[in-house]
Amino acid sequence: MSAPRVVAVVPGSPAARAGIEVGDEVVTMNGQVPRDVIQYQLLADDDELDLELTRGGLPVAVEIDKRPGELLGIEVHSALFDQVRTCDNHCEFCFIYQLPPGLRESLYLKDDDYRLSFLYGNFTTLTRFTEADLERVVTERLSPLHVSIHATDPSVRTELLRNRRGATSLRWLRALLDHDITVHGQIVVCPGLNDGAVLDDTLAGILDRYPELASVCVVPLGVSRYNGEARMRSHTTAEAAAVVDAVHDWQDVFRAVLGRRVVFAADEYYLLADRSFPEADAYEGFPMHEDGVGMARTFEREFRGEVDEATGAASGFFAWVDGAPAEGYRAPRTDPTTLAPTGLRPTTFAPATPAPAAGQVVLRPRRQAPVAILTGAYGARVLGPLVAELGRDDVRVVEVGNEFFGGNTGVAGLMVGSDLTRVLRDEPEGHRYLLPDVCLSQGRFLDGTSPADLPRPVEVVATDGLALRAALLGRTATPNDEREVVHG
Ligand code: SF4
Repeated sequence: MSAPRVVAVVPGSPAARAGIEVGDEVVTMNGQVPRDVIQYQLLADDDELDLELTRGGLPVAVEIDKRPGELLGIEVHSALFDQVRTCDNHCEFCFIYQLPPGLRESLYLKDDDYRLSFLYGNFTTLTRFTEADLERVVTERLSPLHVSIHATDPSVRTELLRNRRGATSLRWLRALLDHDITVHGQIVVCPGLNDGAVLDDTLAGILDRYPELASVCVVPLGVSRYNGEARMRSHTTAEAAAVVDAVHDWQDVFRAVLGRRVVFAADEYYLLADRSFPEADAYEGFPMHEDGVGMARTFEREFRGEVDEATGAASGFFAWVDGAPAEGYRAPRTDPTTLAPTGLRPTTFAPATPAPAAGQVVLRPRRQAPVAILTGAYGARVLGPLVAELGRDDVRVVEVGNEFFGGNTGVAGLMVGSDLTRVLRDEPEGHRYLLPDVCLSQGRFLDGTSPADLPRPVEVVATDGLALRAALLGRTATPNDEREVVHG
């Protein structure tokens, strides 16, 4: 158990007025020790708050009176103050087992904690869920939750999770639905294991036993070059097409019985199967957009200017990495302390090169310079046709092959600095290089490097069609964007 440590205080907030400082540790709130940020928020909601803090190891008592509903104005260091509940499964397809060595420690954490499911949209298998957890979820209305299903047949689920509790833990899913908790499900499909007849059986099982599920995404497994599981492999085109067909067939069944599609195939499947994406209305409001379902369609609508707002926080195709750490999903993509906010305004990074000597000519991209959009293999296939619609010969898509993770890794969210460096070294100077922010977490790539380490200046753009369109059309020019040839 570690007390929540204050990392930021909002100026003018009740916390600031009460003299709370960055570095203070919150020991109790109205006499209770908060164990996670959910409980912290409930306690902080009180109008009258007695806080016991420690500051530099010394106790400090603070009384706060605030208006009903007024936010306390503190940001704390972590979502969980007690131990994160780790996963006791050993899935063959787990991407965490397939990570290269030497990454930051938090990336290797296998969490299976319903609280992170509620807070960040992480998927939980419920194999460690308890009666007390159910009581808390129901009492505090921790909804929606995200549950990894993979298969409804007990023996198949046990085999997939390599955990005997996999056979029984979906009873908790039934209990959650019985208590009107909204749940989104996920099926990671491994060819030869839970596709074909098993997938049909799983979708029939969902219709039969869990029809209240809000939505279910069907996503292909990721296979990196570090995969050590002999049975894990990429889908063939035919296998991917069979999954897409199965999902469409079952959508018809779900619609006939429940009046809604419920199950959706991830965008990756349409790319793998070489099929066109469903029309936007077939996604029924994009309930699993963050999980890579319908992102290509929303991007297209945004890029063409058919909508005014981006669809949700686009965490990219990255979210199919089942059980990846929360920080990889929804952490701020750029470091808020040093960088401009993302959104329509691109953030410009220059390589960390020494300052030019007097008289040295330094080429900086101009707004009119040719533009290269950096993206992964899948992104290139989505963006290529859209960019072609512009009819501009000064805009191109540059595909960044993923050698860092290797295997079938093609999502933009897993682009890293080493691959970008390899590609950018061969690219001309003086062009604008646009980088989607989905590959950054707090300003860093997964390999620990940052955009400033790249051999060409890049502009980080929010990962949605509106932001890319604005970056290409230059509608949101800022002083930073207006760059010319500079004589140092
Ligand atoms: S895929 Fe998820 S549930 Fe399976 S071992 Fe990895 S973290 Fe655990």
